[in-house]
Amino acid sequence: MKILVVEDEDTIREVEKAYLQRSGYSVDDSCDGKSALDLFKKNKYDLVLLDLNLPEMDGVEVCKEIRKVSQVPVIMVTARVEEIDEIVGLEIGADDYIKKPFSPSVLIARVQTILRRTGHETIEFGDILIDPERMIINKKGKEIELTTTQFNILYTLAKRPGKVFTRSEILDYAYDETLPNDVLDRTVDAHVKSIRKAIESNPKKPRYLLTVIGKGYKFNDELK
Ligand code: CA
Repeated sequence: MKILVVEDEDTIREVEKAYLQRSGYSVDDSCDGKSALDLFKKNKYDLVLLDLNLPEMDGVEVCKEIRKVSQVPVIMVTARVEEIDEIVGLEIGADDYIKKPFSPSVLIARVQTILRRTGHETIEFGDILIDPERMIINKKGKEIELTTTQFNILYTLAKRPGKVFTRSEILDYAYDETLPNDVLDRTVDAHVKSIRKAIESNPKKPRYLLTVIGKGYKFNDELK
C-alpha cells in the first residue's frame, strides 16, 4: 500500500512518514500542493494524507484536482475544524480528516479505517466492472467511457447497492454545483439516462441503475 503525504511543516511530515512506514506502508512525500499533484499524476497511490494549509496551492484545491481524475481516499489534516464539514462533505470530496495536533496512533488508526472503508477496489456486478482508479467501466471486456460526473454517480450508487439516493444526494456526491430544484431533477435524470445508455443492454429496462418512483435511484442489489 502506497501513501502520498503532503505537508509543508518538516517535523510533522517526518513524523507522519516515519509512523506510516513503521506500519508497513510505503510513503512518498511532498511539501507543497503543486509538486504533490505532479507526484500524484505520475504514481499510483492507495491513499493521500493532505495538509489543508499549503504553499503554492492549498489542500482544498489539491483535493479538487485529485477528484477530477481519481476516487483515491483523501484524509485532510487540519487545525481549522470549522470548515471541515465542507471539506469532508460532498463539495470538496475528502473522505475524512485528522485534527492537528494529532497523536501518531490516531493517524495510523484513521488511515487503516479509511483504507478498509473506502477500499477503492474494483466493483463488479453482473457483467460490468467499475474501476474507480482509472474511472472506467468495463462491460464484457469492453471499456465504456463516462464523463466524470456520470462516473461519480454510478460509482457512488454501486458502492452501496440497494440504498436509495434522492436526486439531490446524487448531485451532491457527483460534485456538481448547487442547482435550483427543477433543474436539479432534470440534470440528474439526464445523467442517469446517459449512464444507462452506456452500460445497459436495454436502457429502457435497466438492470443496474433502477428508478425508485417518487424517491430517486438505486443500484440493483439483486444482481448475480
Ligand atoms: Ca501547513
